[in-house]
Amino acid sequence: MKCDRCENNAVYSRKYSGESFCSDCFSNSILRKTAKTISKYNMIQNGETVCVAVSGGKDSLALLDALSKMAKNHNFRIHAITIDEGIPGYREEALDIVKEFCVKLGVEHTIYPYNELFGLTLDDSLKQNENDRLSSCSICGTFRRRAMDHAAKQIGASVIATGHNLDDVLQTFIINTLSGDTNKIGWMDPDTSENSLRKIKPFCEIYESEIVFYAFTNDLPFQTEPCPHTNEGIRTEIREFLNKLEGSHSGIKNSMYRSVLKISQIMKDANYKEKTKCTSCGAECTGKICSVCKMIIDLQD
Ligand code: SF4
Ligand code: ZN
Repeated sequence: MKCDRCENNAVYSRKYSGESFCSDCFSNSILRKTAKTISKYNMIQNGETVCVAVSGGKDSLALLDALSKMAKNHNFRIHAITIDEGIPGYREEALDIVKEFCVKLGVEHTIYPYNELFGLTLDDSLKQNENDRLSSCSICGTFRRRAMDHAAKQIGASVIATGHNLDDVLQTFIINTLSGDTNKIGWMDPDTSENSLRKIKPFCEIYESEIVFYAFTNDLPFQTEPCPHTNEGIRTEIREFLNKLEGSHSGIKNSMYRSVLKISQIMKDANYKEKTKCTSCGAECTGKICSVCKMIIDLQD
């Protein structure tokens, strides 16, 4: 079979659109799609520095690769950051992969360790978490959000890009729906241009399977070892369910995504709250106290 765009042999067929691509044309299609998402939701403005959160997994390394290829033509700069949670035996490998890849791309890279920012590693805070009141990932995720905000501030960036793909977005939507967390559905609107610090997901319209193929066909290094604390819970079941549906109904993920867009905008408007400053640390939040300060208090209780 030939590539639809050139004379080369096709190596990838995009089932939902019926297109076939050689490996170069496939990669270009991902870059074009990413650029389109970025401009559709005003994700990056001219001349900006984009803080790219790179964990060492395939999504974040693919994002770093794609943004570094796009940066020149689209007039923005990138600065990679890695948050080091302090998980012995796991984070070291990822740090080596990211460091080496950033050198190869000529991208600046800074590491932000939890213990320097919060005075304790993830493992330390898990020890304080008596009776496992909070899940490892909810502690870790809250700290990570604050660490990324801090990193962006230090670098002088007003935008942070993460490697979340379309599958991640759909899974999160279902999880928020099942748990009744309608506030969080409002946070899923990809247009964050009115926030002072914007969190963007340039891959939010690309299937996970295509990110995997992009990483593979571009020979990207990435860590395959999962975090020892991973507890994906229901997310894995939802991932499998959506993949099964997509297998028998090509394109169903795209149509669900369109619904997620509409619903998240409605929920965002319905739950709109004036931004305030956390009375404890001064961070932007919507209540009296921000989620990070609240969690630190909960851990000390
Ligand atoms: Fe943190 Fe959970 Fe990710 Fe491990 S899996 S790095 S604990 S969020
Ligand atoms: Zn706070």
